[in-house]
Amino acid sequence: MSSATQIPVKQLGEELTKHTRFQVYTHRHLDKIKPLQKLSAEQRFEMEVVSNVLPFRVNDYVINELINWDNVPNDPVFQLTFPQRGMLEPADYDRMAALLKSDAERKEINALAKEIQAGLNPHPAGQQEMNVPMLANEPLDGMQHKYRETVLFFPSQGQVCHSYCTFCFRWAQFVGDKDLRFASNEAEKLHAYLAKHKEVTDLLLTGGDPMVMKTRHLENYLEPLLAPELEHLQTIRIGTKSLTFWPQRFVTDDDADELLALFTKLVKNGKHLAFMAHFNHWQEMETPIVREAIRRIRSTGAVIRTQAPVVQHINDDPAVWVRMWRTQVRLGLVPYYMFVERDTGAKRYFEVPLARTYEIYRQAMQGVSGLGRTARGPSMSAGPGKVEIQGITELQGEKVFVLRFIQGRNPNWVQAPFFAKYDPNATWFDDLVPAFGEEKFFFTDEYEAMCAGNTEEAIY
Ligand code: SF4
Repeated sequence: MSSATQIPVKQLGEELTKHTRFQVYTHRHLDKIKPLQKLSAEQRFEMEVVSNVLPFRVNDYVINELINWDNVPNDPVFQLTFPQRGMLEPADYDRMAALLKSDAERKEINALAKEIQAGLNPHPAGQQEMNVPMLANEPLDGMQHKYRETVLFFPSQGQVCHSYCTFCFRWAQFVGDKDLRFASNEAEKLHAYLAKHKEVTDLLLTGGDPMVMKTRHLENYLEPLLAPELEHLQTIRIGTKSLTFWPQRFVTDDDADELLALFTKLVKNGKHLAFMAHFNHWQEMETPIVREAIRRIRSTGAVIRTQAPVVQHINDDPAVWVRMWRTQVRLGLVPYYMFVERDTGAKRYFEVPLARTYEIYRQAMQGVSGLGRTARGPSMSAGPGKVEIQGITELQGEKVFVLRFIQGRNPNWVQAPFFAKYDPNATWFDDLVPAFGEEKFFFTDEYEAMCAGNTEEAIY
């Protein structure tokens, strides 16, 4: 029995949740989701239209235990998981609606969906072209190496999620076009690459959601990281929203105990296991089963850090963040990042101006104690690096955003402050221009050279 298994799980499981069998619904099953019958026929049709363009996937636990159906459509978890009309440009919406009403063939519907998807910036921040590492002159497709210390790995079995967030910036991976997917089933290549790159201290296992994988698959990727030649790898991060969408993974699933035993083994053998949990709203952390999942993960020695973007309709309110961060600190979680909503997919529905996002961060920080003030941000994962908004102020008679790189394609950029002209409507880094009449930011020339493939740093 693993050290995490102190309570008879089956017995607990029955009391903790009504849902231990994973039942998933996609756009083909909208009419099978019973609580949706409460909505008007028009609202249900709107969901059908949008879900033919943007990926949709939800499960029984989310539907029955996380969403307050008396508060629909405003319920934050409903907004987080169900398609909404405003996610598409009106003209795109009308075209898809007309096609569905005309009983068009699936081929035709898919073709229009692809056309609309192509207009939604499916690959933000140059992630397909610029960050692909090489091994023996071959590109490693399921990996990204953007920053010197950190390698991202996308295990092929983890390229879906238990449910999908409506704001997901990885939506392009989920729409079925192989060209849009990152995936690799080559654990050996990952280990060989890491063994050669002693500068790498952190591996981030990401997806989709790697926690959809069976424990035996995870073991293939993670156990070899204990080999002596990978001693330089100090941290294994797992990016996941499973605590929200399927906490049963750590409590009642058949291989939950084996999973926790794997975590314990990694920690006992000297790795820092960082569980990067995505939470957008405190409502995701209220059920008995998620509390138990958190307790069990922490009992392995793993540290749970939390992160999320600010998104309109879900958490664009400092009070939501205050309650969320307070709950996290109470449960022993470490708030880590507040992100800016990415410039992709349904951003027209979710985006929040940078100035407002910064204000939400500032007010939320003021509402928590020191232990809750560990979240960095608001941060934009932009092409040149992770850029944090540090403040809005007036300098030399000009209103400006004060910015700095938290991570940069060139590590020398990190922590250097720089300034952008204040723009109340800007929602993403690319909307910003340098302050004080400057033509370029300090990194512009170097970054452009990297984009053109002319410098060493281009692989990071
Ligand atoms: S958990 Fe992450 S990858 Fe999965 S749908 Fe949500 S944002 Fe996307």
